[in-house]
Amino acid sequence: MTAYTILNPATEQPVTTVPGTSAAETDAAIARAEVAQRSWRAVAPGDRASLLRAFAAKVDAHGEELAQLEVANSGHPVGAARWEAGQIRDVIQYYAAAPERLTGRQIPVAGGVDVTFAEPLGVVGLIVPWNFPMPILSWGMAPALAAGNAVIAKPAEMTPLTAIRIGELALEAGLPEGVLQVLPGKGSVVGQRLVDHPAVRKIVFTGSTEVGQQIMAGCAKHVKRLTLELGGKSANIVFADSDLEQAAATAPYAVFDNAGQDCCARSRILVQAAVLDRFMELLEPAVKDVKVGDPALAQTEMGPLISAGHRASVARYVPDNAPVAFRGSAPDGPGYWFPPTVLAPVGFDAPAYTDEVFGPVVTVTPFEDEAEAIRIANDTPYGLSGSIWTGNVGRAIRVARAVEAGNLSVNSHSSVRYWTPFGGFKQSGLGRELGPDALDAFTETKNVFISTQA
Ligand code: NAP
Ligand code: MG
Repeated sequence: MTAYTILNPATEQPVTTVPGTSAAETDAAIARAEVAQRSWRAVAPGDRASLLRAFAAKVDAHGEELAQLEVANSGHPVGAARWEAGQIRDVIQYYAAAPERLTGRQIPVAGGVDVTFAEPLGVVGLIVPWNFPMPILSWGMAPALAAGNAVIAKPAEMTPLTAIRIGELALEAGLPEGVLQVLPGKGSVVGQRLVDHPAVRKIVFTGSTEVGQQIMAGCAKHVKRLTLELGGKSANIVFADSDLEQAAATAPYAVFDNAGQDCCARSRILVQAAVLDRFMELLEPAVKDVKVGDPALAQTEMGPLISAGHRASVARYVPDNAPVAFRGSAPDGPGYWFPPTVLAPVGFDAPAYTDEVFGPVVTVTPFEDEAEAIRIANDTPYGLSGSIWTGNVGRAIRVARAVEAGNLSVNSHSSVRYWTPFGGFKQSGLGRELGPDALDAFTETKNVFISTQA
């Protein structure tokens, strides 16, 4: 185990050191999880539910502590970090209602009774990215535990602090040892071991498409179950018949929230050509008004990027000759700051237009009519989210049905709700998280026929 240092992205100062788990330690954790899971699946449904409710209550009692940890570790504005700590509590609470409701079916057959059972998978490996350490941890962890699986969570190397604390809170709440383990460390070591080890029966991965593809290939060797939540390049489609003031006032938050480090970021604004000039006039003050600064302050709306390396990667999309229409502000001095940036006009082959920048950079592209808007929106390998702004209900429904993406909002940029399904079309992912059906991703259906002839 070699310790490494965690930096505060707003100050570049060390926060703490964390032990990096080795491959051998990962194997030992998997062995503990296998043993723990055999007992956990045997815990009576009502008791498993009540342990999960106790876990949610613990998280709630430590909500402010978790939020402050995220401010220090990830640079999230404190208001956002409080929402994220609330989300992890709510997701655990929601799936705490699942154990007693994990019903199978009784299917009519001749000569007996046929029933199905929703069996847990075993040990689930959860590989979490750095952009939303708490919510994304909870989306896999809570339904997996509720269904009777053991969970090994691998937080992103840079942002393990809240996950480590949540692992401790689970034990304090009474979850048995080994049912939830948090292993900080490198993806290439811990994450890779979870993918390669045959006793891990399922991987839930959120992160880059590149690593997601490698993980999918690794899982194929074991026919390992897999949920993937990858990137996005989502469109915010603004029609001339929409409430243009509202569309422009909200567009910055749909892409600059979490400094653009959001797989759902609406990073391509598509505007009907007839209202493009007016929209840009309205967008400029909205972008300049985004409050970028110290994440510890309640009024802050956007913090820094996660690391120096990531800032350099975002900056490559805005070279000196980039077509910057206008920009917001960002602090000088230490911290990985990058100002909200609007690029227009941008060619369809410009990297800032085609790639997931994962930073506060948005492009604006005009379109003529509904058909062209749909064509442009779908002209990407991604398909995660998107927004449609129009006053015409028929158009709203037509376009929502035509855009190839898993999560759309009309006249809103609705964020993720834990009780509705979330996931991507095309290269944005595989499978769905959250919502009423999430348990399906953590169980196998077993069919049993019982003869009445004996
Ligand atoms: P990443 O490399 O895909 O990392 C995501 C998670 O996978 C981290 O926990 C990482 O661990 C782990 N990992 C890395 N290599 C692995 C391997 N070979 N086997 C198993 N696990 C592995 O993402 P990133 O490098 O942090 O970010 C790169 C880009 O990915 C971003 O700029 C963005 O475009 C995209 N991204 C998307 C999302 C999303 O929400 N969809 C989230 C994050 C990033 P380490 O932290 O130790 O490397
Ligand atoms: Mg990486």
